[in-house]
Amino acid sequence: MVLVFRDVSIRKQQEAQLQANELRLRRMAEAMPQIVWVTRSDGYRDYYNRRWYEFTGVSPEECLGWQWQDLLHPDDREKSVSRWRESLRTGEPFENEHRYRAKDGSYRWFLARALAVRDDDGQVMNWYGTCTDIEEFKRTADERERFFSLVKNSSEFIAICNFDGNPNYINPSGLRLIGLEELPEQPQLTFQDFLFAEDQSYVLNDFLPSVIEYGQGETEVRFKNVTSHDARWMSINAFVIYGTDGSREGLGTVSRDITERRRLEDHLRRLAADLSEADQRKDEFLATLAHELRNPLAPLRNGLQVLKFGQLKPEDDLQIREMMERQLGQMVRLVDDLLDVSRITRNKLELRREHVSLKDVLQNAVETSRPLINEFKHDLKLHLPDNDVYVDADFTRLSQVFANLLNNAAKYTEPGGLIELAVSPQAHQVIVSVKDNGVGIPAPMLVKIFEMFTQVDRTLERSQGGLGIGLTLVKRLVELHGGKVEASSAGHGHGSEFRVTLPLVASPRAFDDGNHLPSQRIANRDVTNRIMVVDDNVDSANSLALLLKMMGYDVRIVHDGLSAVDLFDEFQPTIVLLDIGLPKLNGYDACRRIRERRLGTRAKIIAITGWGQENDRRRSREAGFDAHLVKPIDPTNLERLLVSTLQS
Ligand code: ADP
Repeated sequence: MVLVFRDVSIRKQQEAQLQANELRLRRMAEAMPQIVWVTRSDGYRDYYNRRWYEFTGVSPEECLGWQWQDLLHPDDREKSVSRWRESLRTGEPFENEHRYRAKDGSYRWFLARALAVRDDDGQVMNWYGTCTDIEEFKRTADERERFFSLVKNSSEFIAICNFDGNPNYINPSGLRLIGLEELPEQPQLTFQDFLFAEDQSYVLNDFLPSVIEYGQGETEVRFKNVTSHDARWMSINAFVIYGTDGSREGLGTVSRDITERRRLEDHLRRLAADLSEADQRKDEFLATLAHELRNPLAPLRNGLQVLKFGQLKPEDDLQIREMMERQLGQMVRLVDDLLDVSRITRNKLELRREHVSLKDVLQNAVETSRPLINEFKHDLKLHLPDNDVYVDADFTRLSQVFANLLNNAAKYTEPGGLIELAVSPQAHQVIVSVKDNGVGIPAPMLVKIFEMFTQVDRTLERSQGGLGIGLTLVKRLVELHGGKVEASSAGHGHGSEFRVTLPLVASPRAFDDGNHLPSQRIANRDVTNRIMVVDDNVDSANSLALLLKMMGYDVRIVHDGLSAVDLFDEFQPTIVLLDIGLPKLNGYDACRRIRERRLGTRAKIIAITGWGQENDRRRSREAGFDAHLVKPIDPTNLERLLVSTLQS
């Protein structure tokens, strides 16, 4: 009996001990900031601590019959339950991160851990678990991940380095920029590895110390690609990086590739410099232009004055007239060049090409330049091949090229010099050289002289000035013909040579234009040829009429389109020289109306106008004109045209 009594008391003692332990544990569990829970093997609630009720807002009565997973975020439920089953199967502790619903309906992240307690047969009796709130930790980790992906995917160069300049992180774009696939561990990369030698002193001795002192700094410097040694201009923003305890941990940079911007800036700077140079050249040009246009006016006025007095000896009379002709020719040349240059700058210059004989072109050019060459008493030597060669060219324009070069050779050579014009045909091209033994061209100017308004020496007092546009025209015209022009000179006082290269064509093709007919004088002109001159500029009309009368024609003048049509019937001219811009009825309409008259189709009607573009020529052709002459008319050309028109 005594024994039995003792047994019971021991058991009771043990039970009391157990209860006390459980009470202690429960009190501990109640005091814990985590959720603590115990479930049965099937997951139904056995015990939840106070934190659970506080968090979920559910009372013990309400959650009767709930399983532990009932408050899980729907997206996390499947993974959580499968992990739980897994640990049920393996006996390993359960661990999972998932979201629990709070009493306000929001979810927070928890780290759940649980352990199964099993009986002697290995059957799970209970689950003991805790849930630790990891919401803040999760948020920080997410934020860190977001920042990291920002840095990783940024196209900027982002790096962190220690104060010795050894990078311990460079983002992928940064690595690519300096030509690396990854940051090498050994040998350790240093900042100066991707700086050019000439920039290192500034960056390492000035820029970085200032960043360290003031905490931040900006500069622009080139980075070197360590593989290709290519340079990229970078806009650097560098700063000191601080640890959470406020200590200075190293340097960081977010730098941007500004190579393209720098390139554009350089381009703009050069453009601005060019523009201001061009501006200066234009100002000089305008001054020269005024000077050059005024130059021939004085002798012309003097000449007119002398002629007014009359009673000159025949040789003086001839001399005065020749001088006036020369000066006028000079003015016409200037204005022609100016117009051509304006066409060139507006891309309006058109060629009327055909297969022409180079010999004819050069003869024409020599004829044009002969007066100037003779005036300076130069010796002109021609070296032409026995067999002629042909080029696909605009006869007038190509003649103009060589006349310009010959004129320059004459102008820039001391009197009594030697000018040589040589033709060297080759397989598919021909080289024409114009060489003189004149003042020569300094080497730095050899290319520049082809630029608009460029003159080697503007201050030089020259007897034959220019505008600095002749060679621009030459170059452009030669290029329009598919060729090129180069200048060479052994320097000041050693003469110059201009070589024009042009493509050859195999065979000649006949001219289809009366303009280049060889000059021929008419011995017995038919005085019955009547010419009607129509021009609203009275001086222009009168002087032209005078010239034509002196050539032996019967001439009548009218000053507007309607009068021209009226006079046509009465006068019945064989040739009509018709201006285009006319009062009352313009030249095109006047021409059309004349063509409708009884004798209108037989008359030759020639347009005389200031407009010489292909478009203008086409319009006059369409209006019924036979030919198109551009003012001012060269009397010799007019005479040739009249002859050929009358013969056709
Ligand atoms: P311009 O003769 O009207 O000044 P160009 O364009 O024909 O203009 O020539 C430009 C400059 O090139 C001339 O001012 C002159 O300084 C130089 N030049 C051209 N041809 C010769 C030459 N044959 N010898 C020396 N200098 C030349």
